[in-house]
Amino acid sequence: PRARVVKSVRSSLTISPAPILTKLQRDCATPLPVLRHVADAMAADMRAGLEVDAGSDLKMILSYVDALPTGNEKGLFYALDLGGTNFRVLRVQLGGKDERVIATEFEQVSIPPELMSGTSEELFDFIATGLTQFAQKETGKFHLPQGRTRELGFTFSFPVKQTSIDSGILMNWTKGFSVSGTAGKDVVACLNEAMKRQGLNMRVSALVNDTVGTLAGARYWDDDVMVAVILGTGTNACYVECVNAIPKLHKPNSTTGGKTIVNTEWGAFSNGLPLTEFDQEMDAQSKNPGEQIFEKTISGMYLGEIVRRVLVRMAEDARLFGDSVPEKLLMPFSLRTPDICAMQQDSSKDFEVVGSILYNVAGVNSNLSTRKTIIDVCDTIAKRGGRLAGAGIVGILQKMEEDSQGIVFGKRTVVAMDGGLYEHYPQYRMYLQDAVTELLGDEISKNIIIEHSKDGSGIGAALLAATNSMYEH
Ligand code: BGC
Ligand code: MG
Repeated sequence: PRARVVKSVRSSLTISPAPILTKLQRDCATPLPVLRHVADAMAADMRAGLEVDAGSDLKMILSYVDALPTGNEKGLFYALDLGGTNFRVLRVQLGGKDERVIATEFEQVSIPPELMSGTSEELFDFIATGLTQFAQKETGKFHLPQGRTRELGFTFSFPVKQTSIDSGILMNWTKGFSVSGTAGKDVVACLNEAMKRQGLNMRVSALVNDTVGTLAGARYWDDDVMVAVILGTGTNACYVECVNAIPKLHKPNSTTGGKTIVNTEWGAFSNGLPLTEFDQEMDAQSKNPGEQIFEKTISGMYLGEIVRRVLVRMAEDARLFGDSVPEKLLMPFSLRTPDICAMQQDSSKDFEVVGSILYNVAGVNSNLSTRKTIIDVCDTIAKRGGRLAGAGIVGILQKMEEDSQGIVFGKRTVVAMDGGLYEHYPQYRMYLQDAVTELLGDEISKNIIIEHSKDGSGIGAALLAATNSMYEH
């Protein structure tokens, strides 16, 4: 008999989590009409954002990248990537058409959490220090002609209003960053000042979003790459657009058919998404309430947190873990997306992996039926995320197709994907592909190649530094 009732568990007649699960599945459902609506709304929001600045949820930022790598790039270039949980530096020796990448080296460090909410100087000093140390280790495999300054491609994965290929103003932080004193500033100037403090002499030749770096990196190997999508801590997409299709550029119609890359910042999309009370509460308590709603529904920073909120509810209202709510589970972000992913890979008979993850994360023992329920919750959230991401991709392709009379759907078109969520979560990837196939049909989706472009963004930024080099190469 349960004599001792712990306060945190509501006395309720419902002792089964099943009704909560059923409601969750209903609220998160993404049948074809919902997917179609999201794809159509994505295409419409893209058009609105191309008309005028602030015309839509989608910022549709001009990247100033209008020449993609050709393969002829030559020389030594550096790249620096700041954007999520890690910070990466890289150097590459490019050998032109036949030799391509002669040598490459990189280093990666995780960003100390306290830097994510410190000051701008602290963050940029940390980056510049890492870059300086890395540059000092340049080996004989790399070669810079006499008298030249080293050039750098800077991947900065936040919404930046570009003012040229090598300058841009941070509009707002995302992904849990809340560094003071950077928003409204030119991030290249911030980096230059920090490099000066370190005594490092490098020239930032290109400032790019990670999606743009990924597109450039993938295009270096494959001319059919037209779209790049990041599904990692955060999410975003960019694509190749016709200059003529961008009214806010105020360029007279060019006859040369010029192309440029547009960074959609689709993480801010919000139209018609199937959201739950858990999403709403998470958003309200986030560092950027009301912003990045698509990102909060589909990206890696948030999936585990949504699941955690559902489990807390099940613990409180349906005694999922018995008499009390596990205290550890009450801590926001204690359940991470890699955890829910690992639980979904558990193929053991009694779901022992699930059991041990729950023990590690929440300090609880669980029985088989609890474990099964939890897997269902994970699957529901991953499925919604993957399918909505797929619908977003179709929205972009659809917009491109409408403007190009058949050349997107009618021939091989590659969508380059990167980010830890896409790379490491097989179910998510499968749900994404399912949604794309459902929306486009078998015939068209055969032409649409959604493929992982691993770490393309670093090389891509270095390639764009080469394309925009101040020297003749
Ligand atoms: C940022 C984008 C970035 C994406 C993926 C989002 O939070 O706003 O600029 O491309 O994350 O890193
Ligand atoms: Mg990244």
